[in-house]
Order: sequence, then C-alpha cells, then structure tokens
Amino acid sequence: MTLVLQKHVSLKPFNTFGVDVRARLFADAHDDQEVKEGIAAAMQEDLPLLVIGGGSNLLLSRDVDALVLRMASRGVRILADDGIRVCVEAEAGEVWDALVRWTLEQGLAGLENLSLIPGTVGAAPMQNIGAYGVELKDVFDSLVALDRQTGALREFSLAECAFAYRDSLFKREPGRWVILRVRFALSRQAPLHLDYGPVRQRLADEGISDPTPADVARVICAIRREKLPDPAQLGNAGSFFKNPLVPASLAERLRGEYSDLVAYPQADGLVKLAAGWLIDKAGWKGFRDGPAGVHAQQALVLVNYGGASGQQLLGLAERIRDDIRQRFGVELEMEPNLY
Ligand code: FAD
Ligand code: NAP
Repeated sequence: MTLVLQKHVSLKPFNTFGVDVRARLFADAHDDQEVKEGIAAAMQEDLPLLVIGGGSNLLLSRDVDALVLRMASRGVRILADDGIRVCVEAEAGEVWDALVRWTLEQGLAGLENLSLIPGTVGAAPMQNIGAYGVELKDVFDSLVALDRQTGALREFSLAECAFAYRDSLFKREPGRWVILRVRFALSRQAPLHLDYGPVRQRLADEGISDPTPADVARVICAIRREKLPDPAQLGNAGSFFKNPLVPASLAERLRGEYSDLVAYPQADGLVKLAAGWLIDKAGWKGFRDGPAGVHAQQALVLVNYGGASGQQLLGLAERIRDDIRQRFGVELEMEPNLY
C-alpha cells in the first residue's frame, strides 16, 4: 500500500478526550511499509513524527506540528500451540479489546482481566497496561519494533522491555520505537486472577463457583461499565494520574491522620496509595471548571464535558496536583502522554 498524507487534520475523532486540535500532517499506516514511508515523509518535511493508536492515553495541549501516524495495521494469528500453551501474535493497529474477545473465543486464558481497556495492541506495551491485578507483562511473550534511529527491525524479549508499573523502555525512550506487532503467551489452563476488588464477589453473586476466563471477562466488563465514563459519551483518558508509590513512613503518617487511607504495601518496601482516594478526600470529585471536570463517580478520571481545550484540562490537573502536594505531601504523576 502507499501512504496517503492529509494536511491540517482535526484530531478530535482520534483522541478520547475529544480535544479539538489539528495535526499539520496525518496518515494511517496499514503495514510496515507504510510506517517506513511515514518516517521518511516526516524527515522530508522536517517534522517530528507522532505515532498514535486509539488516542486513549493522550492529552493534546496544542496543535500538533508534526506528522501524526495512526497505526491501522490488522491481523491476529496463532504462532505456536502445544495444546496448552499458545503464542498469539497481533498487529499494532488491532483494537485491544477485540483481541481480548478473540482470544476468549479461542478458549485461551490470560487477557480476561484486561478486558474493555480502550486503545490498540501496539500501545499496550508502552505503559504496560494493567487492570484488576494483571499487567501486560504477565502475558507478554515478545514484540517487534522499528528503530527510528537506524530503520532496523528489532525483536524485544520480556526482560528487554523493562516493564514496570505503567512504564516500559518504550515510554522511557519516547519517539524512538514504533511497535509493529506484539506476541502473547496465553494458555488453555492458566489460573484465573480473582482476588482483586469485587471480582470474586460478583462471580459468587451470579452463582458461579468455577468460572471460565469468559466469565471473568464478563464480570470485569460489567464493573468497568458501572464505574467508568464511556469516552464515546464523555471525553476522558481513563486514570489521569498514576497511583503514587511512597515511602512506608509517609504512608504510616497519613494512616495516623486518615484511618480510611487506601494503601497497598509493595514487595520493594514502598506503599502504593490510591490516587483516586487522595483526590476524592481533597474534595475534587465532581468538581467542574467550565467544560473541564473531575468525574462525579471516579475522582481519578478527568473529563471533557464538551469543548474543553487541552490547556483547560492541564490547568485543572495542575490545580489538583498542587492541592494533593500541599494536603498530603504526595506528588502525583500524570499518566496520559502530553503533547
Ligand atoms: P495512544 O493514546 O494512541 O498512545 C499512547 C502512547 O503510546 C503515545 O505516547 C503514543 O505515541 C504511543 N504509541 C501508540 N501506539 C504506538 C506504537 N504502535 N508504537 C509506538 N508508540 C505507540 N490503561 C490501563 O493501563 N489500564 C486500564 O484499565 C485503562 N483503562 C482505561 C479506561 C478508559 C475509559 C480510558 C479512556 C483509558 C484507559 N486506559 C487504561 C488508558 C489507555 O486505554 C491505555 O494506555 C491504552 O493502551 C492506550 O492505547 P491507545 O492505542 O489509545 O494509545
Ligand atoms: P479500584 O478497584 O477502585 O481500586 C482503587 C485503586 O486501588 C486502584 O487504582 C488499584 O491500583 C488499587 N487496588 C485495588 N485493589 C487492589 C489490590 N488488591 N492490590 C493492589 N492494589 C489494589 O480501581 P478502579 O479505578 O475501579 O480500577 C479498577 C482497575 O482498572 C485498576 O486495576 C485500575 O488500574 C484499572 N483502570 C485503569 C485505568 C487507567 O487509565 N490506567 C482506568 C480505569 C481502570 P492499580 O490501579 O494499581 O490496579
């Protein structure tokens, strides 16, 4: 295929916040060749290249003076199957949740807790997506990426991706790697992860004592639909801040002040605080400043009630960060990628 470049394209349909900024150049990349053509076109125009997927982890704060390349490659295939362990490969432009549903239809376990996360397969390794006690790294086999510095293809093993909480090598080297396809280590017999939040209880309420991966996915989808705003109805990018990892001494001090503090000790001695709890406790839940606001049911989600600019959303986020720092002595870090 040949890359089709468009000029001055509104990115409103391509970011789930629904922020209306323009890209100087825009193109869909359907295969590796078109990705290479996009890189060459950006160099020729002397523009930066911004690779996007579903735009569900972006905050666009101004017009994007770049070539925006949207990954539109498709394809899912089984690479290996020994009857129990199955390696599945998916192209970067595949819709993440469609992949999850496809694997469940094949009777494969592994991705069920990551159901209903918006976005694409290629973006999933960027922040090592996670939900309900499972992270991408737990089901990851390898990936293929294009090095924009050298133009070479490179395969990355699990260790080489350096996955961490909402983080990876690819996030730490922004703009260097274009992820082309990802391989997943799934199983026909994997143990299920039911001990997170209300998952086990919801299954019990439905009278299910021996759940299948599809049961787990269905229950998690139901919980997510109840708690999270649908970006098609109300612009948002999911959790706006990462859950902060703080020293145990700070968590202890806060627990002394707030007996209901939500805190999870980690293996490395740090303590994970629920950013949503901190923001809620500080009184921001449901706050609205013109078109930018904090969701009324989930304080961790900033929302665009219609027509909010990236600057307005960013301004609100800054006010929240300052307040949380002053009240609790905790530094919040933004999760979506800012441009
Ligand atoms: P984009 O937003 O398009 O891009 C994100 C970043 O990845 C950008 O920096 C972009 O440049 C880069 N990128 C995209 N594709 C590629 C590629 N192929 N190669 C190189 N770089 C690339 N996240 C979670 O972890 N867990 C959740 O439970 C979760 N729930 C969410 C719920 C809602 C309602 C929303 C709106 C978001 C949620 N998110 C969650 C955040 C988001 O869905 C994920 O981070 C998702 O993986 C982003 O995918 P995307 O294709 O939309 O990426
Ligand atoms: P929740 O269940 O209300 O829990 C609040 C926070 O406490 C979560 O952020 C979670 O951290 C943490 N937590 C809860 N139970 C835990 C446990 N057993 N062990 C360790 N930590 C625990 O959260 P929610 O907002 O409804 O989200 C549910 C899941 O979906 C979470 O995993 C969340 O990360 C994920 N999610 C992510 C996004 C995003 O954009 N990144 C958006 C929506 C939902 P963790 O976040 O570290 O899991």
